[in-house]
Amino acid sequence: MKTFLLIVVIGWFAVGVLPGKEPPKKSKTVEGIVARISESHIQEVVEKLVSFGTRHTLSDTASPVRGIGAARRWIKSEFERHAAGSGGRMTVAFHESIVPPSARVPQPTNVVNVVATLAPWQQDPTRRLLVVGGHYDSRASDPMNAESDAPGANDDGSGVALVLELARVMASMTLDATVVFIAFAGEEQGLLGATQWAEMARREGWSVEAMLNNDIVGSSRGGDGSVEAGYVRLFSEAYSPTDTGAVFRMRNSLGLENDGLSRNLARTIHDVAALYVPAFEVRMVYRRDRFLRGGDHSPFHGRGFAAVRFSVARENYDWQHQDVRSEGGKEYGDLPKFMDFEYCANVARANAAALATLALAPAPPQGVGIVTSQLEYETTLRWKKGTESDLAGYYVRYRATTSPTWEHTVFTTDTTITLKALKDDYLFGVQAVDNEGNASLSSIPRPVR
Ligand SMILES: [Zn+2]
Repeated sequence: MKTFLLIVVIGWFAVGVLPGKEPPKKSKTVEGIVARISESHIQEVVEKLVSFGTRHTLSDTASPVRGIGAARRWIKSEFERHAAGSGGRMTVAFHESIVPPSARVPQPTNVVNVVATLAPWQQDPTRRLLVVGGHYDSRASDPMNAESDAPGANDDGSGVALVLELARVMASMTLDATVVFIAFAGEEQGLLGATQWAEMARREGWSVEAMLNNDIVGSSRGGDGSVEAGYVRLFSEAYSPTDTGAVFRMRNSLGLENDGLSRNLARTIHDVAALYVPAFEVRMVYRRDRFLRGGDHSPFHGRGFAAVRFSVARENYDWQHQDVRSEGGKEYGDLPKFMDFEYCANVARANAAALATLALAPAPPQGVGIVTSQLEYETTLRWKKGTESDLAGYYVRYRATTSPTWEHTVFTTDTTITLKALKDDYLFGVQAVDNEGNASLSSIPRPVR
């Protein structure tokens, strides 16, 4: 709060006048959601997922106790239990696709995502979608081995437990956007389930505003003996494949290489997490994923949606993608006993803060422009007024071109502002804010006359 006031004061000097109204405060609703995240609940879910023996995409689908079929029926029943408290706004379904043979799928296979959709309190005319996901399939040492135990506690029981926990704490919320909670299948066989869902979203023209992928988010002990429980990595890519031609040339000429869709989302998540979960850091990494590796956010980013990946600060390669065994006095396998559930709960809190904030916030401002009629020493921005009934105003954000995060914030109820900040030296963004202080993603201005 102190930082916020300081920022406002800086803003006051910058513009000379602080428009009318008191700036909105930290949202009580989001604080309440974050406070409800339960470490023990996350642990129970991980242990239950491990109890299915293997959740390999090609494993048994008929058994009531072992294999991917039993696992997805249980995940669906958990979503349905949470949906019961949603007043009918949360619906749960399997999303099934028969995928053709590929490198890790020898025959056509039914890949089944488990999807819970939480609709807003009133139908959102633009149907803004926010997606949070983790993958429920698992693997052993051999990626084609569908028989032996593949507990997948951390990879990615942790992500699925987090998604179920978010569905539980958010089910009764009244939101401005639709939130889609997904347990993906087929990640280990080639990002199959996420690709099917992202492709459906692209084909249908759905407006996916953000996708948060959680994959390996529940451990703090690295294989090199290091321990890091203070932060989680958040991976984001710079350019979208849709940033081609004139869009690419504009981005490049204006120095907007760190303001692409996914990196802009990462910056917002970093900010919101710092506000609501200050003892735990979301640390941005400017890279698609870990070096030469990938995850379920990529099919989303690759189709022009903002998508990022959370993953632990320290990995242990003996405890992922390994048959459960002891060898040379060393234990291998992805078991719950190697996890840190307090850490996992912190990652869930960071996700909850970001997801709830974006889902409560008005839509990001449209038509944001940086006015360039002549060479001048000030910067004028303008945008279109939103139509939400709880819209309170806008945060105008700016930062030095070399800063990864926003440094200055000015609140205004107007739809234009002139800042005493030279546009050569700063990058700008505008967020829509509701009465409670929930701010949208930043819209990055384009040059306008
Ligand atoms: Zn994984």
